[in-house]
Amino acid sequence: MPIWNYLSWPHIKECAERGCVVIIPIGVIEQHGHHLPVDTDAFIVHEIAIEAARRDPEILVGPTVHFGYTPSNKNFPGSISLSASTWTALIRDVVRSVARHGFTRIALLNGHGGQVPLSRTTAAVLQDEDNISVVTLNWFGLVDKEMALLFAEEKLTGGRVGHAGAVETSMNLHLRPELSDQGVRVTNVCAAMPEFVSKVGGYVQTPREKLSASGVIGDPELASAEKGAELFELAVDRLCTFAREYRKSRVGE
Ligand SMILES: [Zn+2]
Repeated sequence: MPIWNYLSWPHIKECAERGCVVIIPIGVIEQHGHHLPVDTDAFIVHEIAIEAARRDPEILVGPTVHFGYTPSNKNFPGSISLSASTWTALIRDVVRSVARHGFTRIALLNGHGGQVPLSRTTAAVLQDEDNISVVTLNWFGLVDKEMALLFAEEKLTGGRVGHAGAVETSMNLHLRPELSDQGVRVTNVCAAMPEFVSKVGGYVQTPREKLSASGVIGDPELASAEKGAELFELAVDRLCTFAREYRKSRVGE
C-alpha cells in the first residue's frame, strides 16, 4: 500500500514512473460539536484514501494536509483557520512539489465543505499559472446520492453533510468509536443561510456560533456505525474507480 510519508525517495520515483495517481487528502482542524474530534474532516479523507490505496497499489496517498480554511468556525476553541491566501499558497506549493517529481495524475480529496470553492480556484490557478492539472474531489461528492437516501430522515436544507451531524458522526462511529462520543450529541437542524439568500442561489457567510451554540448542524442522534460503514465502503469504491479512470484518461498530459 503506497503511502508517500512512509516511502523512501527511490520508491516515490518508481511510483511516478509507473504513473501512479497521487491522492492528497485535505481537511481542516475545526470544532465538530461537543462529541467529535476537531480533526474529523482531515481524518475521514485520510482513511478513505488509505483504504483505496490498500485495494489499488497504483494509488499513492500523499501527505494529508490538516490545516485548512474555516472562517465560519474560527471562534470555537480548537479551530485553526489559515487565511485564504495562505491556504491557497500552501496547496499550490504542495501540488507543485508533487508535480516536480514527475507525477501527472494528481487529485485533492477534500473533507471540508467550506473549502470547496477555494480548492476549485486553486486548481484553476495551478492550471493557469503553473500548467499543472489537478482534479479536486470531495468525499461527500463521491457518495452524494446514496448519502441523501441513507440520511433522508435528517432533513437538512443546506449541504447534506451538515456539520458534526448524522453523516460525520456515523463515519467516526465506524472508523474510531473510541473517540466519537466525547460529549453530549447536540441536535440542531438549521439552515446554514437565511432563506431569502439560499432561495435565489446566493451565498452569505455566517459565523457558526450565531447559528448553533454547540457548533452542530444536523442530528447526530440519527448516526450509526452501520450507516458509516456503508458510506465509507461506497466512498472507497468510488475513489478506486475514479483513480482507474483517471490513469486511463488524457487529463494531465
Ligand atoms: Zn466536518
